[in-house]
Amino acid sequence: QPTRIVKLIRDIAARLETVYQREIDVRTDNEEVLAHVDVNTFDQLMKIFMDNAYKYSSDAIAVEVQDHGQSVEVTIKDRGIGIPEEDIDHIFTRFYRVDKARARKTGGSGLGLSIARELAKLNGIDISVDSQVDVGTTFRLTMESGGNDEEEN
Ligand code: ATP
Repeated sequence: QPTRIVKLIRDIAARLETVYQREIDVRTDNEEVLAHVDVNTFDQLMKIFMDNAYKYSSDAIAVEVQDHGQSVEVTIKDRGIGIPEEDIDHIFTRFYRVDKARARKTGGSGLGLSIARELAKLNGIDISVDSQVDVGTTFRLTMESGGNDEEEN
């Protein structure tokens, strides 16, 4: 179902800004772009990545939506503690958490990302991650485009 993804993200971000009391910047190159996603699934996915960005950083969170024609890319970027390279391949595994000290401080079960991966898989959304310790983390969700609003009408 073609969804106005930027509007959806702005709504989610506005809701979470109130909860976190943290700035969330949403940027895009196409305000009208449509994506083929299930709204509820996408909402859950965003919440998992945003909750992590919030927990593992203390600055503003940046969300960017890019229209690539056939696909739409959504990135969630934080400037937080980052993920060590040796852990990157494991973070989507159930109950995996990067280190015990970190785990104790922030709470959490280590389930978020494994759920995200399952939800994404069921919805044809590709997830990739880019991270550097003490610099920050970017999660990238790539999904099928739903065309452009103008073209549909
Ligand atoms: P929860 O299930 O409550 O989300 P969690 O955050 O520990 O708990 P996941 O969301 O699965 O679990 O994340 C797995 C691990 O990946 C985290 O414990 C954390 O170490 C690391 N991680 C995830 N997102 C980030 C991020 N944005 N910045 C730094 N580390 C992250």
